[in-house]
Amino acid sequence: MSIESEKQFISMLREGAGRELIQYFDSCVKCGLCFNACHMYYSTHILEYAPAFRMELLKRIYKKHFTLSGKLAPWISKASDINLKALTQLRKAVFECTGCRRCSFYCPIGIDPTLPITLSRGLLSKIDLAPEILKQLADMQIERAKTIDLYRDIIFEQINELKAKLRNDIKDPKADIPINRVNANILYVPISSEESILSAAKIFNIARENWSLSIYDAANWAFFLGDIERAKAISNRIIDEALKLKVETVVIAECGHGHFIMKNLISKWFNKEFPFKVKNIVEVLAEYIADNRINPSKISRKVTYHDPCRIARNSGIIEEPRYVIRKIAEQFIEMNPNRSRNWCCGGGGGLVAVPEFENVRILTGAMKAKQINETKAEIVVAPCENCKQQITSIREKYNLNVEVMGLVDLVNIALTS
Ligand code: SF4
Ligand code: SF4
Repeated sequence: MSIESEKQFISMLREGAGRELIQYFDSCVKCGLCFNACHMYYSTHILEYAPAFRMELLKRIYKKHFTLSGKLAPWISKASDINLKALTQLRKAVFECTGCRRCSFYCPIGIDPTLPITLSRGLLSKIDLAPEILKQLADMQIERAKTIDLYRDIIFEQINELKAKLRNDIKDPKADIPINRVNANILYVPISSEESILSAAKIFNIARENWSLSIYDAANWAFFLGDIERAKAISNRIIDEALKLKVETVVIAECGHGHFIMKNLISKWFNKEFPFKVKNIVEVLAEYIADNRINPSKISRKVTYHDPCRIARNSGIIEEPRYVIRKIAEQFIEMNPNRSRNWCCGGGGGLVAVPEFENVRILTGAMKAKQINETKAEIVVAPCENCKQQITSIREKYNLNVEVMGLVDLVNIALTS
């Protein structure tokens, strides 16, 4: 690696290493309790997947450059130079992590290994060692936001086509997919698929909601790069739209990390409170059913539920989807463990989009496949696009006889059957 890149890495590490990180470095007692909490380590026993070791790799570089013992006696403190070998190992440890934070729930000291992991991702991104596809996807989102005016006509045309389909599907000639509606109760931010728009539009129309469709998508690819400045720019598209339209609530589609960012990070990132609430579509579905705004019928197929890490463990949305499923499914069976201790499916952290991680992603989905198999369910509901894609992949690999769908899909089936 070039001297320039090395200097850049060290200077960014100096800036990024805050008090909390140093505390984590100093307080890890190497008890190993986090190791088997990680689905990746548990299913492979590869050392780079052990949560504390992922953190240790950055700590070794930090020691070498910022501590006296690391400078004077690196062989004793295992301090490490920044060289290709160290960075290749760090890249594996931090980019092959789903960011699920299951490890942090098992650490008796309260260490969250995703803090050094996210920082390391950011450092590696800045010296061009991040997976190229994540960079391209983030660039695309930022470029599209800058040139959104060029796309407006195309967007309106697409929405008009969807509107015709919507009216036909729910037999309502007045059903609408409004865009740019000022003072709407809800600004719905979909994932970038027509299905995500159409399936939510059906429910909003049946519930007679005063809503508006966002012209942006909920994903945030820069977040997976640990590139917080660009992740902020991507979030800002939605924030600006919500402020301009003066909406009451921003409702995020079934996108775990997209929801997590809007719900938990934007106030911290921008150091201010925003005048709108943020909810996930899963919460809105539960409210509609509780308020009798939609009345789904029962289905007889056996249903299980996968708690997406960013929705359940990291955002606390746990009982709402269960309430919806119990209203619909005659047979609902939990996976074990579940809720905030649920096993990660293996697709988060951007892994599902990176072809070079496909093998490890499928391999480390073994825990999830086992859980699903044990329920003997016919349908697995997973309200996160990454989880749905990952569970669909492992379904093929592990011969699971189960249909994978989102909660919005389940509600749509129950509303139209
Ligand atoms: S965040 Fe998840 S994948 Fe990453 S180290 Fe922790 S348990 Fe493992
Ligand atoms: S559980 Fe906590 S203290 Fe124990 S090894 Fe893991 S990070 Fe270190």
